[in-house]
Amino acid sequence: MSSAWYVRRRVVIIAQKLVCAPDTLSDSNCAFRSAVHAAGVSNALYFLRPRAGGRATALLFALLLTFQLRLFSAQEEALRAGASRIDITPTLPVMLDGYESRNHLSEGVHDPLSARALAFKQDRRRLVLVSIDNLGFYNDTAAPLRRTILDACQLQPAELFLAATHTHSAPTLTLDPGKGHSNNVAYTRTLQTQLAQVVREALERAVPVVLQAGLGACPVGANRRQFAKDELGNPKIVLGRNPSILTDREVQVLKITHAADGQLAAVVWAYNTHSTSLGPHNYLVSGDVHGLAMQFLENYLGNGTVGSGFAGASGNIDPWYRVLPGFRTTNGWIPEPVLQGTFLGEEVARVVEEIPKPDLAGPLGTAWKTLELPGKLAGGNLVTNNCPPTLLNLAVARVGQVAFVGLGGEVFNEIGQAIKAASPFPNTIIITHCNGAAGYLPTRPAYLEGGYEVRSSEFGPDAADQVVKETLRMLHAL
Ligand SMILES: [Zn+2]
Repeated sequence: MSSAWYVRRRVVIIAQKLVCAPDTLSDSNCAFRSAVHAAGVSNALYFLRPRAGGRATALLFALLLTFQLRLFSAQEEALRAGASRIDITPTLPVMLDGYESRNHLSEGVHDPLSARALAFKQDRRRLVLVSIDNLGFYNDTAAPLRRTILDACQLQPAELFLAATHTHSAPTLTLDPGKGHSNNVAYTRTLQTQLAQVVREALERAVPVVLQAGLGACPVGANRRQFAKDELGNPKIVLGRNPSILTDREVQVLKITHAADGQLAAVVWAYNTHSTSLGPHNYLVSGDVHGLAMQFLENYLGNGTVGSGFAGASGNIDPWYRVLPGFRTTNGWIPEPVLQGTFLGEEVARVVEEIPKPDLAGPLGTAWKTLELPGKLAGGNLVTNNCPPTLLNLAVARVGQVAFVGLGGEVFNEIGQAIKAASPFPNTIIITHCNGAAGYLPTRPAYLEGGYEVRSSEFGPDAADQVVKETLRMLHAL
């Protein structure tokens, strides 16, 4: 960690807190963030002075001095990181998750499933990011799976981001024999043990590292809320493709290399799309777009490099080719999930190879909150009166200049964009299906349009704004 950077960062945060009072935090007043980032410390003080006055400036310098003293008295340990991957492909036929219409067990494996862990360590603090090839932690499986890992590895709740890629061709998770096939219960029990193992290995492998961040773009994900008309000619939203709506197509990439010899240790990336290339008629196990992208990336990079991928804010985003019956190979056709996964994986690899040089490593911090958000009845009309609140697990973390936001639901793309745009960190990676499975979180305008996600959501129209505000508040406090 660079001392100069740390001091500069603290000044920026203090300046933001003085200007952006938490209760009035909004996208517009935190546009200040980008100005501060662009201008540097001296200009940050210039911005601060007319608004906060002499007292605030004096306070700022006092705090700055405190932080400088802290730097000399309690320098943080160098950032360490380690990664591990474990195969979690089912060995018995299982029920695949994601489509209620599926009525029998899986018929084989197209490509393997994995769980991947990346562990950061600094002093006594930890941050573990786990990506598993699965739909998500439905049937109340998030808490017991998390508890197993937390206990086995002695982690604090906020130190674990347990996330699923949302592939719709992986086993339904359940520990309750009343809620699933016995093979699925056995699979989930085995997964518990495997997750503890993969996290333990990642923690044990942690060595000093350099952290770099880069951005790519990929057109695989498209807005899926297509405008149509019902039999009376009234407008409605159907699941399809609506590429005319601009979406966040960023491919966010982190490269972790060993500080000692520059050897590539791990890659973390996030991209906004459902992994739903394969539809309800597919009975083959597959990681779908995200899983196939990770498999391509790891094969390409070699040397056992772990390339953990995550689904970003993708509640209303589907892959360009969606819900196909299977892996079409006729007349030399490349199966669309393989085509799209490879396309995405190649972009991650390109960013890794051209990534900007600066080491972004720095202080490590984590925070956790379970939000009580306005609820609504799932299904049917918009009913919010007398509805109990709906809970959403929210985890935030920072590793130097990189922030992570873990959301326990399916978040619309625009919500992720709002958080990224107003975040106090230059790199903010949104991870959904993380630590919970609260279902769809649409934006307020989507409730006027309707559609599948809005109907099935248990959140009221005000929930999204509260999530954005609380996330930003927590990011500022890191
Ligand atoms: Zn979904």
